[in-house]
Amino acid sequence: MRLSRYFLPVLKEDPKEAQIVSHRLMLRAGMIKQQAAGIYSWLPLGFKVLRRIEQIVHEEQQRAGHIPMLMPTLQPADLWRESGRYDDYGEEMLRLKDRHKRDLLYGPTNEEMITDIFRSHVNSYKDLPLTLYHIQWKFRDEIRPRFGVMRGREFLMKDGYNFDLTKEDALHAYNRHLVSYLRSYERMGLQAIPMRADGGPIGGDYTHEFLVLAETGESEVFYDKEITDLTFGDRAIDYDSVEQCQAVLEEFTGRYARTDETHDQAIFDEVPEERRRTARGIEVGQIFYFGTKYSDAMGATVVGPDGQRVPVHMGSHGIGVSRLLGAIIEANHDEKGIIWPEGVAPFHVGIVNLKQGDNSTDSACEAIYAELQTRGLDPLYDDRDERAGAKFATADLIGLPWRITVGPRGLAANKVELTSRRTGESEELSPKEAIARLEAIYAPVLGSVVRDK
Ligand code: ATP
Ligand code: MG
Repeated sequence: MRLSRYFLPVLKEDPKEAQIVSHRLMLRAGMIKQQAAGIYSWLPLGFKVLRRIEQIVHEEQQRAGHIPMLMPTLQPADLWRESGRYDDYGEEMLRLKDRHKRDLLYGPTNEEMITDIFRSHVNSYKDLPLTLYHIQWKFRDEIRPRFGVMRGREFLMKDGYNFDLTKEDALHAYNRHLVSYLRSYERMGLQAIPMRADGGPIGGDYTHEFLVLAETGESEVFYDKEITDLTFGDRAIDYDSVEQCQAVLEEFTGRYARTDETHDQAIFDEVPEERRRTARGIEVGQIFYFGTKYSDAMGATVVGPDGQRVPVHMGSHGIGVSRLLGAIIEANHDEKGIIWPEGVAPFHVGIVNLKQGDNSTDSACEAIYAELQTRGLDPLYDDRDERAGAKFATADLIGLPWRITVGPRGLAANKVELTSRRTGESEELSPKEAIARLEAIYAPVLGSVVRDK
Protein backbone atom coordinates (compact mmCIF):
# COMPACT_ATOMS: atom_id res chain seq x y z
CA MET A 1 0.00 0.00 0.00
CA ARG A 2 1.11 3.52 -0.78
CA LEU A 3 0.39 5.83 2.11
CA SER A 4 -0.64 8.64 -0.24
CA ARG A 5 -3.56 6.47 -1.38
CA TYR A 6 -4.44 4.91 1.96
CA PHE A 7 -6.95 6.04 4.57
CA LEU A 8 -5.03 6.54 7.78
CA PRO A 9 -6.63 9.30 9.84
CA VAL A 10 -3.99 9.64 12.59
CA LEU A 11 -4.66 12.10 15.40
CA LYS A 12 -2.03 14.58 16.57
CA GLU A 13 -3.55 15.14 19.99
CA ASP A 14 -4.26 12.58 22.67
CA PRO A 15 -7.99 11.88 22.69
CA LYS A 16 -9.45 12.85 26.03
CA GLU A 17 -11.91 9.99 26.33
CA ALA A 18 -9.21 7.31 26.42
CA GLN A 19 -8.15 6.18 29.86
CA ILE A 20 -5.69 3.46 28.92
CA VAL A 21 -2.82 3.37 26.52
CA SER A 22 -4.21 0.84 24.04
CA HIS A 23 -7.41 2.80 23.60
CA ARG A 24 -5.46 6.03 23.18
CA LEU A 25 -3.10 4.53 20.63
CA MET A 26 -5.84 2.84 18.64
CA LEU A 27 -7.62 6.19 18.30
CA ARG A 28 -4.40 8.08 17.57
CA ALA A 29 -3.28 5.55 14.96
CA GLY A 30 -6.61 5.86 13.15
CA MET A 31 -7.61 2.25 13.79
CA ILE A 32 -11.10 2.68 15.22
CA LYS A 33 -13.83 5.24 15.58
CA GLN A 34 -16.42 5.10 18.28
CA GLN A 35 -20.00 5.22 16.98
CA ALA A 36 -21.82 4.74 20.26
CA ALA A 37 -20.74 3.58 23.72
CA GLY A 38 -18.85 0.33 23.22
CA ILE A 39 -19.58 0.22 19.47
CA TYR A 40 -16.81 0.91 16.97
CA SER A 41 -16.12 1.22 13.31
CA TRP A 42 -12.95 -0.55 12.32
CA LEU A 43 -10.99 1.81 10.11
CA PRO A 44 -8.64 0.24 7.54
CA LEU A 45 -5.58 -0.12 9.80
CA GLY A 46 -7.58 -1.56 12.71
CA PHE A 47 -9.48 -3.83 10.36
CA LYS A 48 -6.23 -5.13 8.94
CA VAL A 49 -4.93 -6.17 12.36
CA LEU A 50 -8.32 -7.65 13.26
CA ARG A 51 -8.13 -9.79 10.12
CA ARG A 52 -4.58 -10.91 10.96
CA ILE A 53 -5.72 -12.05 14.39
CA GLU A 54 -8.74 -13.81 12.93
CA GLN A 55 -6.49 -15.56 10.43
CA ILE A 56 -4.25 -16.93 13.18
CA VAL A 57 -7.28 -18.13 15.11
CA HIS A 58 -8.68 -19.84 12.00
CA GLU A 59 -5.39 -21.53 11.20
CA GLU A 60 -4.83 -22.83 14.70
CA GLN A 61 -8.41 -24.04 15.12
CA GLN A 62 -8.28 -25.91 11.85
CA ARG A 63 -4.88 -27.32 12.71
CA ALA A 64 -6.53 -28.78 15.82
CA GLY A 65 -9.23 -30.36 13.63
CA HIS A 66 -12.01 -27.93 14.48
CA ILE A 67 -14.44 -26.98 11.74
CA PRO A 68 -15.30 -23.39 10.77
CA MET A 69 -18.85 -22.26 10.07
CA LEU A 70 -20.94 -19.13 10.59
CA MET A 71 -24.05 -18.57 12.65
CA PRO A 72 -26.12 -15.37 12.49
CA THR A 73 -25.88 -12.48 14.94
CA LEU A 74 -29.66 -12.45 15.49
CA GLN A 75 -31.21 -15.42 17.23
CA PRO A 76 -34.81 -16.41 18.02
CA ALA A 77 -35.66 -16.04 21.70
CA ASP A 78 -37.40 -19.42 21.71
CA LEU A 79 -34.10 -21.31 21.62
CA TRP A 80 -33.04 -19.49 24.76
CA ARG A 81 -36.36 -20.23 26.42
CA GLU A 82 -35.56 -23.93 25.97
CA SER A 83 -32.33 -23.65 27.91
CA GLY A 84 -33.83 -21.31 30.48
CA ARG A 85 -31.29 -18.61 29.75
CA TYR A 86 -33.71 -16.15 28.15
CA ASP A 87 -34.81 -15.07 31.59
CA ASP A 88 -31.51 -15.71 33.37
CA TYR A 89 -29.33 -13.57 31.11
CA GLY A 90 -30.65 -10.26 32.38
CA GLU A 91 -29.98 -6.81 31.02
CA GLU A 92 -26.79 -7.73 29.22
CA MET A 93 -28.90 -9.33 26.51
CA LEU A 94 -30.11 -7.03 23.76
CA ARG A 95 -33.67 -8.07 23.02
CA LEU A 96 -35.67 -6.97 20.00
CA LYS A 97 -38.87 -7.71 18.15
CA ASP A 98 -39.37 -8.11 14.43
CA ARG A 99 -42.38 -6.72 12.50
CA HIS A 100 -44.41 -9.83 13.40
CA LYS A 101 -43.73 -9.17 17.09
CA ARG A 102 -41.52 -12.22 17.36
CA ASP A 103 -38.84 -12.04 20.02
CA LEU A 104 -35.28 -11.95 18.80
CA LEU A 105 -31.98 -11.24 20.47
CA TYR A 106 -28.54 -10.21 19.36
CA GLY A 107 -26.42 -13.20 20.32
CA PRO A 108 -24.11 -12.77 23.32
CA THR A 109 -22.88 -16.35 22.75
CA ASN A 110 -24.10 -19.41 20.80
CA GLU A 111 -24.53 -22.52 22.97
CA GLU A 112 -28.26 -22.76 22.27
CA MET A 113 -28.01 -22.27 18.53
CA ILE A 114 -25.17 -24.72 18.04
CA THR A 115 -27.01 -27.30 20.17
CA ASP A 116 -30.05 -26.80 17.96
CA ILE A 117 -27.94 -27.36 14.83
CA PHE A 118 -26.42 -30.46 16.35
CA ARG A 119 -29.73 -32.04 17.38
CA SER A 120 -31.20 -31.36 13.94
CA HIS A 121 -28.45 -33.14 12.04
CA VAL A 122 -26.46 -35.54 14.17
CA ASN A 123 -27.95 -38.81 15.23
CA SER A 124 -25.20 -41.32 15.91
CA TYR A 125 -22.12 -41.58 18.08
CA LYS A 126 -20.31 -42.50 14.87
CA ASP A 127 -20.45 -38.83 13.86
CA LEU A 128 -18.49 -37.86 16.97
CA PRO A 129 -16.19 -36.31 17.98
CA LEU A 130 -17.25 -33.02 16.45
CA THR A 131 -16.05 -29.50 17.15
CA LEU A 132 -17.61 -26.59 15.29
CA TYR A 133 -16.61 -22.96 15.67
CA HIS A 134 -17.23 -19.56 14.23
CA ILE A 135 -15.88 -16.03 14.49
CA GLN A 136 -18.83 -13.71 14.78
CA TRP A 137 -19.87 -10.40 16.31
CA LYS A 138 -21.49 -10.62 19.71
CA PHE A 139 -23.48 -8.09 21.63
CA ARG A 140 -23.52 -7.74 25.39
CA ASP A 141 -25.07 -4.64 26.81
CA GLU A 142 -22.24 -4.18 29.30
CA ILE A 143 -23.12 -1.83 32.11
CA ARG A 144 -19.77 -0.06 31.76
CA PRO A 145 -18.30 -0.36 28.29
CA ARG A 146 -14.80 1.06 28.54
CA PHE A 147 -11.19 0.90 27.50
CA GLY A 148 -12.09 0.94 23.81
CA VAL A 149 -12.31 -2.49 22.23
CA MET A 150 -11.29 -4.19 25.48
CA ARG A 151 -14.76 -4.01 26.91
CA GLY A 152 -17.05 -3.21 24.05
CA ARG A 153 -20.73 -3.90 23.73
CA GLU A 154 -20.38 -5.18 20.19
CA PHE A 155 -17.25 -7.32 19.96
CA LEU A 156 -15.79 -10.08 17.83
CA MET A 157 -15.41 -13.49 19.40
CA LYS A 158 -14.30 -16.88 18.26
CA ASP A 159 -16.54 -19.40 19.94
CA GLY A 160 -16.20 -23.13 19.46
CA TYR A 161 -18.29 -26.00 20.72
CA ASN A 162 -17.30 -29.62 21.11
CA PHE A 163 -19.70 -32.58 21.04
CA ASP A 164 -18.50 -35.88 22.42
CA LEU A 165 -19.92 -39.22 23.48
CA THR A 166 -18.22 -39.37 26.87
CA LYS A 167 -16.82 -37.06 29.47
CA GLU A 168 -13.38 -38.48 28.74
CA ASP A 169 -13.64 -37.58 25.06
CA ALA A 170 -14.93 -34.12 25.94
CA LEU A 171 -11.94 -33.56 28.21
CA HIS A 172 -9.66 -34.42 25.32
CA ALA A 173 -11.48 -31.72 23.33
CA TYR A 174 -10.87 -29.37 26.26
CA ASN A 175 -7.16 -30.15 26.23
CA ARG A 176 -7.02 -29.75 22.45
CA HIS A 177 -8.47 -26.28 22.84
CA LEU A 178 -5.95 -25.42 25.51
CA VAL A 179 -3.09 -26.39 23.19
CA SER A 180 -4.53 -24.56 20.20
CA TYR A 181 -5.03 -21.44 22.31
CA LEU A 182 -1.46 -21.50 23.60
CA ARG A 183 -0.25 -21.67 20.01
CA SER A 184 -2.58 -18.93 18.84
CA TYR A 185 -1.57 -16.40 21.49
CA GLU A 186 2.12 -17.11 21.00
CA ARG A 187 1.78 -16.50 17.28
CA MET A 188 0.32 -13.11 18.19
CA GLY A 189 3.42 -12.36 20.25
CA LEU A 190 1.56 -12.73 23.53
CA GLN A 191 2.02 -14.74 26.64
CA ALA A 192 -1.46 -15.70 27.83
CA ILE A 193 -1.41 -17.79 30.98
CA PRO A 194 -4.11 -20.38 31.56
CA MET A 195 -5.54 -19.74 34.99
CA ARG A 196 -8.06 -21.72 36.89
CA ALA A 197 -11.36 -19.92 36.62
CA ASP A 198 -14.79 -20.04 38.14
CA GLY A 199 -17.35 -22.28 36.48
CA GLY A 200 -20.15 -19.95 37.54
CA PRO A 201 -23.52 -21.51 38.28
CA ILE A 202 -22.57 -24.69 36.40
CA GLY A 203 -19.51 -25.22 38.56
CA GLY A 204 -16.92 -27.84 37.82
CA ASP A 205 -13.16 -27.83 37.70
CA TYR A 206 -12.90 -27.73 33.99
CA THR A 207 -12.57 -24.15 33.08
CA HIS A 208 -9.52 -22.01 32.49
CA GLU A 209 -9.23 -18.41 31.49
CA PHE A 210 -6.24 -17.18 29.51
CA LEU A 211 -4.78 -14.00 30.90
CA VAL A 212 -2.29 -11.53 29.52
CA LEU A 213 -0.47 -9.79 32.34
CA ALA A 214 -0.94 -6.02 32.15
CA GLU A 215 -1.34 -3.25 34.71
CA THR A 216 -4.58 -2.18 33.11
CA GLY A 217 -6.12 -5.65 33.32
CA GLU A 218 -9.50 -5.89 34.97
CA SER A 219 -8.80 -9.17 36.79
CA GLU A 220 -6.61 -9.62 39.82
CA VAL A 221 -4.42 -12.71 39.38
CA PHE A 222 -2.19 -14.79 41.63
CA TYR A 223 0.47 -17.05 40.19
CA ASP A 224 3.72 -18.89 40.63
CA LYS A 225 6.39 -16.95 38.72
CA GLU A 226 7.70 -20.17 37.20
CA ILE A 227 4.66 -20.33 34.95
CA THR A 228 5.90 -17.29 33.05
CA ASP A 229 8.97 -19.26 31.94
CA LEU A 230 6.87 -21.69 29.91
CA THR A 231 6.51 -21.38 26.17
CA PHE A 232 4.88 -23.74 23.73
CA GLY A 233 7.13 -22.73 20.83
CA ASP A 234 6.95 -24.56 17.55
CA ARG A 235 6.92 -28.08 18.95
CA ALA A 236 5.01 -30.60 16.90
CA ILE A 237 1.86 -31.96 18.43
CA ASP A 238 -0.57 -34.63 17.35
CA TYR A 239 -3.96 -33.23 18.25
CA ASP A 240 -5.48 -36.70 18.08
CA SER A 241 -3.14 -37.95 20.78
CA VAL A 242 -4.89 -37.93 24.15
CA GLU A 243 -1.57 -38.36 25.95
CA GLN A 244 0.19 -35.52 24.17
CA CYS A 245 -2.61 -33.02 24.74
CA GLN A 246 -2.99 -34.11 28.36
CA ALA A 247 0.75 -33.65 28.91
CA VAL A 248 0.55 -30.05 27.64
CA LEU A 249 -2.38 -29.34 29.94
CA GLU A 250 -0.44 -30.72 32.91
CA GLU A 251 2.64 -28.75 32.01
CA PHE A 252 0.81 -25.44 31.63
CA THR A 253 -1.64 -25.79 34.51
CA GLY A 254 0.62 -27.60 36.96
CA ARG A 255 1.63 -24.46 38.83
CA TYR A 256 -0.48 -22.11 40.85
CA ALA A 257 -2.25 -19.59 38.62
CA ARG A 258 -5.71 -18.34 39.50
CA THR A 259 -7.95 -15.34 39.13
CA ASP A 260 -9.43 -13.71 42.21
CA GLU A 261 -12.62 -15.71 41.71
CA THR A 262 -10.90 -18.99 42.52
CA HIS A 263 -7.90 -17.74 44.49
CA ASP A 264 -7.14 -19.78 47.60
CA GLN A 265 -4.62 -18.10 49.86
CA ALA A 266 -3.81 -21.28 51.79
CA ILE A 267 -2.75 -23.13 48.63
CA PHE A 268 -0.96 -20.05 47.31
CA ASP A 269 1.07 -19.85 50.52
CA GLU A 270 2.56 -23.25 49.69
CA VAL A 271 4.35 -21.68 46.70
CA PRO A 272 7.83 -20.50 47.81
CA GLU A 273 7.52 -16.85 48.72
CA GLU A 274 10.03 -15.55 46.18
CA ARG A 275 7.98 -17.10 43.38
CA ARG A 276 4.58 -15.76 44.48
CA ARG A 277 3.22 -13.00 42.30
CA THR A 278 0.09 -10.88 42.44
CA ALA A 279 -0.70 -8.86 39.34
CA ARG A 280 -3.43 -7.78 36.99
CA GLY A 281 -4.47 -9.53 33.83
CA ILE A 282 -6.61 -9.16 30.72
CA GLU A 283 -8.84 -12.14 29.94
CA VAL A 284 -8.34 -13.00 26.28
CA GLY A 285 -10.02 -16.39 26.23
CA GLN A 286 -11.74 -19.09 28.20
CA ILE A 287 -12.28 -22.82 27.81
CA PHE A 288 -15.10 -24.64 29.52
CA TYR A 289 -16.36 -28.21 29.82
CA PHE A 290 -19.96 -28.22 31.02
CA GLY A 291 -21.10 -31.79 30.44
CA THR A 292 -24.71 -32.28 29.40
CA LYS A 293 -26.22 -29.01 30.59
CA TYR A 294 -27.44 -27.92 27.16
CA SER A 295 -27.86 -31.34 25.61
CA ASP A 296 -30.15 -32.35 28.50
CA ALA A 297 -32.18 -29.17 28.33
CA MET A 298 -32.49 -29.18 24.54
CA GLY A 299 -32.58 -32.89 23.77
CA ALA A 300 -29.26 -33.19 21.95
CA THR A 301 -28.74 -36.93 22.04
CA VAL A 302 -27.07 -39.55 19.89
CA VAL A 303 -27.56 -43.27 19.54
CA GLY A 304 -24.66 -44.81 21.45
CA PRO A 305 -22.76 -48.05 20.66
CA ASP A 306 -25.34 -50.06 22.62
CA GLY A 307 -28.29 -48.62 20.71
CA GLN A 308 -29.44 -46.39 23.59
CA ARG A 309 -29.84 -42.63 23.14
CA VAL A 310 -27.54 -40.60 25.35
CA PRO A 311 -27.06 -36.84 25.75
CA VAL A 312 -23.78 -35.57 24.33
CA HIS A 313 -21.01 -34.04 26.43
CA MET A 314 -20.21 -30.51 25.44
CA GLY A 315 -17.87 -27.64 26.09
CA SER A 316 -17.51 -24.13 24.79
CA HIS A 317 -14.33 -22.26 24.12
CA GLY A 318 -13.96 -18.56 23.39
CA ILE A 319 -11.29 -16.17 22.22
CA GLY A 320 -11.82 -12.42 22.46
CA VAL A 321 -10.67 -11.56 18.95
CA SER A 322 -11.36 -7.81 19.07
CA ARG A 323 -10.23 -7.49 22.71
CA LEU A 324 -6.90 -9.01 21.64
CA LEU A 325 -5.95 -5.86 19.76
CA GLY A 326 -6.13 -3.92 23.00
CA ALA A 327 -4.29 -6.63 24.92
CA ILE A 328 -1.49 -6.82 22.35
CA ILE A 329 -1.01 -3.06 22.44
CA GLU A 330 -1.05 -2.97 26.26
CA ALA A 331 1.82 -5.47 26.16
CA ASN A 332 3.68 -3.92 23.20
CA HIS A 333 4.11 -0.15 23.10
CA ASP A 334 6.43 2.66 24.09
CA GLU A 335 6.09 6.43 24.33
CA LYS A 336 6.17 6.77 20.53
CA GLY A 337 3.35 4.37 19.85
CA ILE A 338 2.49 0.77 19.11
CA ILE A 339 5.09 -1.95 18.52
CA TRP A 340 3.29 -4.75 16.67
CA PRO A 341 4.67 -8.26 17.02
CA GLU A 342 5.51 -9.54 13.52
CA GLY A 343 2.69 -12.11 13.62
CA VAL A 344 -0.07 -9.49 13.65
CA ALA A 345 1.57 -6.39 12.14
CA PRO A 346 -0.82 -4.59 9.76
CA PHE A 347 2.06 -3.98 7.37
CA HIS A 348 5.27 -5.93 7.64
CA VAL A 349 7.58 -3.02 6.91
CA GLY A 350 7.40 0.69 6.25
CA ILE A 351 9.42 2.23 3.43
CA VAL A 352 10.38 5.82 4.17
CA ASN A 353 11.52 7.89 1.22
CA LEU A 354 13.66 10.71 2.59
CA LYS A 355 13.56 12.74 -0.60
CA GLN A 356 10.26 12.31 -2.32
CA GLY A 357 10.42 13.62 -5.86
CA ASP A 358 14.09 12.80 -6.31
CA ASN A 359 14.44 10.45 -9.25
CA SER A 360 16.93 8.07 -7.75
CA THR A 361 15.31 7.72 -4.29
CA ASP A 362 11.85 7.43 -5.86
CA SER A 363 12.90 4.67 -8.18
CA ALA A 364 14.86 2.84 -5.47
CA CYS A 365 11.78 2.93 -3.22
CA GLU A 366 9.55 1.73 -6.04
CA ALA A 367 11.91 -1.17 -6.73
CA ILE A 368 12.09 -2.18 -3.06
CA TYR A 369 8.31 -1.88 -2.74
CA ALA A 370 7.71 -4.08 -5.77
CA GLU A 371 10.28 -6.67 -4.74
CA LEU A 372 8.88 -6.99 -1.20
CA GLN A 373 5.43 -7.58 -2.63
CA THR A 374 6.75 -10.16 -5.07
CA ARG A 375 8.14 -12.05 -2.08
CA GLY A 376 4.77 -12.12 -0.35
CA LEU A 377 5.48 -9.31 2.10
CA ASP A 378 3.10 -6.46 2.79
CA PRO A 379 4.93 -3.11 2.78
CA LEU A 380 3.56 0.35 3.47
CA TYR A 381 5.39 2.86 1.31
CA ASP A 382 5.33 6.35 2.77
CA ASP A 383 5.38 8.27 -0.50
CA ARG A 384 3.87 11.45 0.95
CA ASP A 385 5.59 14.74 0.41
CA GLU A 386 6.41 15.12 4.11
CA ARG A 387 9.45 15.78 6.25
CA ALA A 388 11.45 12.73 7.32
CA GLY A 389 10.55 13.38 10.97
CA ALA A 390 6.83 13.22 10.23
CA LYS A 391 7.25 9.98 8.29
CA PHE A 392 9.21 8.38 11.12
CA ALA A 393 6.63 9.52 13.65
CA THR A 394 3.81 7.95 11.66
CA ALA A 395 5.65 4.65 11.21
CA ASP A 396 6.45 4.57 14.94
CA LEU A 397 2.92 5.50 16.02
CA ILE A 398 1.22 2.83 13.92
CA GLY A 399 3.77 0.32 15.11
CA LEU A 400 5.37 -1.12 11.97
CA PRO A 401 7.95 -3.62 13.28
CA TRP A 402 10.52 -2.73 10.59
CA ARG A 403 11.39 0.30 8.56
CA ILE A 404 13.53 0.72 5.49
CA THR A 405 14.81 4.26 5.12
CA VAL A 406 15.93 5.32 1.67
CA GLY A 407 17.90 8.54 1.15
CA PRO A 408 20.17 9.93 -1.56
CA ARG A 409 23.33 9.79 0.52
CA GLY A 410 22.99 6.09 1.38
CA LEU A 411 21.91 5.18 -2.11
CA ALA A 412 25.11 6.62 -3.55
CA ALA A 413 26.85 3.76 -1.69
CA ASN A 414 24.03 1.31 -2.52
CA LYS A 415 22.86 1.37 1.11
CA VAL A 416 19.52 1.72 2.83
CA GLU A 417 18.81 1.60 6.54
CA LEU A 418 16.86 -1.23 8.14
CA THR A 419 15.51 -0.27 11.57
CA SER A 420 13.81 -2.39 14.20
CA ARG A 421 10.89 -0.64 15.86
CA ARG A 422 11.36 -2.71 19.02
CA THR A 423 15.07 -2.12 19.65
CA GLY A 424 15.50 1.08 17.67
CA GLU A 425 18.67 -0.39 16.18
CA SER A 426 19.54 0.34 12.57
CA GLU A 427 21.74 -1.42 10.10
CA GLU A 428 23.14 -0.24 6.80
CA LEU A 429 22.46 -2.82 4.13
CA SER A 430 22.14 -2.99 0.40
CA PRO A 431 18.50 -3.00 -0.73
CA LYS A 432 18.93 -6.63 -1.69
CA GLU A 433 20.25 -7.60 1.74
CA ALA A 434 17.50 -5.68 3.51
CA ILE A 435 14.84 -7.50 1.52
CA ALA A 436 16.45 -10.87 2.18
CA ARG A 437 16.64 -10.07 5.89
CA LEU A 438 12.94 -9.21 6.03
CA GLU A 439 12.04 -12.30 4.09
CA ALA A 440 13.87 -14.41 6.67
CA ILE A 441 12.26 -12.58 9.60
CA TYR A 442 8.79 -13.11 8.21
CA ALA A 443 9.23 -16.64 6.90
CA PRO A 444 7.80 -18.25 10.06
CA VAL A 445 4.89 -15.80 10.07
CA LEU A 446 3.98 -16.30 6.42
CA GLY A 447 4.74 -19.99 6.22
CA SER A 448 1.66 -21.27 7.96
CA VAL A 449 -0.61 -23.16 5.62
CA VAL A 450 -3.20 -25.47 7.08
CA ARG A 451 -4.88 -28.12 5.02
CA ASP A 452 -7.95 -30.17 5.84
CA LYS A 453 -7.08 -33.34 7.66
P1 ATP B 1 -15.50 -10.76 31.04
O1 ATP B 1 -15.32 -11.53 32.34
O2 ATP B 1 -14.30 -9.98 30.63
O3 ATP B 1 -16.77 -9.98 31.01
P2 ATP B 1 -16.57 -13.17 29.98
O4 ATP B 1 -15.90 -14.17 30.86
O5 ATP B 1 -17.96 -12.81 30.27
O6 ATP B 1 -15.67 -11.86 29.90
P3 ATP B 1 -16.64 -15.07 27.83
O7 ATP B 1 -18.07 -15.41 27.78
O8 ATP B 1 -15.70 -16.01 28.49
O9 ATP B 1 -16.47 -13.62 28.46
O10 ATP B 1 -16.18 -14.71 26.34
C1 ATP B 1 -15.00 -15.18 25.71
C2 ATP B 1 -14.01 -14.05 25.48
O11 ATP B 1 -14.62 -12.94 24.83
C3 ATP B 1 -13.46 -13.47 26.78
O12 ATP B 1 -12.40 -14.24 27.26
C4 ATP B 1 -13.03 -12.08 26.34
O13 ATP B 1 -11.72 -12.15 25.80
C5 ATP B 1 -14.00 -11.73 25.24
N1 ATP B 1 -15.00 -10.76 25.73
C6 ATP B 1 -16.00 -10.98 26.61
N2 ATP B 1 -16.70 -9.88 26.83
C7 ATP B 1 -16.15 -8.91 26.04
C8 ATP B 1 -16.45 -7.53 25.82
N3 ATP B 1 -17.46 -6.92 26.44
N4 ATP B 1 -15.68 -6.85 24.94
C9 ATP B 1 -14.66 -7.46 24.30
N5 ATP B 1 -14.34 -8.75 24.48
C10 ATP B 1 -15.08 -9.47 25.33
MG1 MG C 1 -14.80 -15.62 30.42
